[in-house]
Amino acid sequence: MKLIVVTIFLGFPFLSLVSQPTENKLKVLDRKTYELSIQKNPNKELINLEKKIPEILLDIKYATPDNFTKQVIYKEAKAFARKPVAEALRKANLEFLQLGYSIKIFDAYRPYRATVKFFEIVGDTRYVASPKTGSRHNKGCAIDLTLVDQKTKKELPMPTEYDSFRKEAWAESTVTDPEILKSRTILISTLKQYGFRVNKTEWWHYDFLECSGFEVLDIPFEELE
Ligand SMILES: [Zn+2]
Repeated sequence: MKLIVVTIFLGFPFLSLVSQPTENKLKVLDRKTYELSIQKNPNKELINLEKKIPEILLDIKYATPDNFTKQVIYKEAKAFARKPVAEALRKANLEFLQLGYSIKIFDAYRPYRATVKFFEIVGDTRYVASPKTGSRHNKGCAIDLTLVDQKTKKELPMPTEYDSFRKEAWAESTVTDPEILKSRTILISTLKQYGFRVNKTEWWHYDFLECSGFEVLDIPFEELE
């Protein structure tokens, strides 16, 4: 009997996190409560970035095993963000296009269950967000991205690969290669003009700064649209 109870608990860590009341319980919206929230505030709508910004490319690493977990986390390779985030990104991309570049997205809105999964795998909040707080990705307010050459669609040289835990990935790490320095500078400074702040330890991660009131969401991509 004891074994069965333990098995059930271990088998549903996500459910146990969400359903057990705690003192500072994180508010996580499911599809139903999210739909009610966008009726009250249309800015909360998650926008499909591929449709909103036709020029952007997607390379959604968590829809493949090519990510730090080595597991397929998402069933679909899609990118969503809250309406004002999507609009700011569209404007930023117009500026990138003028320079001959375009955005390529690695990850955008991330369902809360993925954050729970990352924590189960890594178990260290220095590298992944704590399920107690969730992340800005869970709020549809953060984007992981890089730049590609608009014509060749080849990625611009950057200091590290995506999701690298190395110190070279830090936004202000020393870069000796002038090409890499140029592309990283253009990426960070252009996005800054449109309200995105680069993460200190990840050159590819950008938080949209006007995100107050956007809740953590737990809706898989296939339930959106
Ligand atoms: Zn990120």
